[in-house]
Amino acid sequence: MYHSILVPVDISDPEFTQQVIAHVEAQANITDVAHVHFLTVIPTFPYYASLGLAYSGEAPDQEQIKNEALSKLSELIDKFDIPADRIKKHVASGSPKDEILRIADSIRADLIIIASHRPGIMTYLLGSNAAAVVRHAKCSVLVVR
Ligand code: ADP
Repeated sequence: MYHSILVPVDISDPEFTQQVIAHVEAQANITDVAHVHFLTVIPTFPYYASLGLAYSGEAPDQEQIKNEALSKLSELIDKFDIPADRIKKHVASGSPKDEILRIADSIRADLIIIASHRPGIMTYLLGSNAAAVVRHAKCSVLVVR
């Protein structure tokens, strides 16, 4: 049914991703032509710490950070039962919500699948990124609770 599914994941919290696995697999495997685009966005300094990189006076090497993020993203993707030839990986940097919306446009996403908010954190109904994606996306959004 869907051909281009965008799955934004926050690699700093793998439990976050756990919530969406069954839903992504179900949508991705309805047909054998659906492509699943996994995206992680590197936002600001706290993200570097999540990658195991220490704070320092010098700006961290962007290429190294991108490679670390890509490898963490790949580890998370391994948990999904989706044929490798239908998976694409994206690492962006900037504001997660803006990048999610930008990549959604560029891949012509017809579905975005996100978790509503970080587990264990009292967010009212939707986290800030989830709320912006629901409000501004041009395609359907599946919010997993
Ligand atoms: P919270 O405010 O509770 O952390 P968010 O709105 O940030 O919740 O997260 C909801 C969803 O937004 C996540 O499940 C994920 O799909 C997406 N998201 C959040 N941060 C990122 C990120 N850095 N990169 C990619 N996707 C993200």
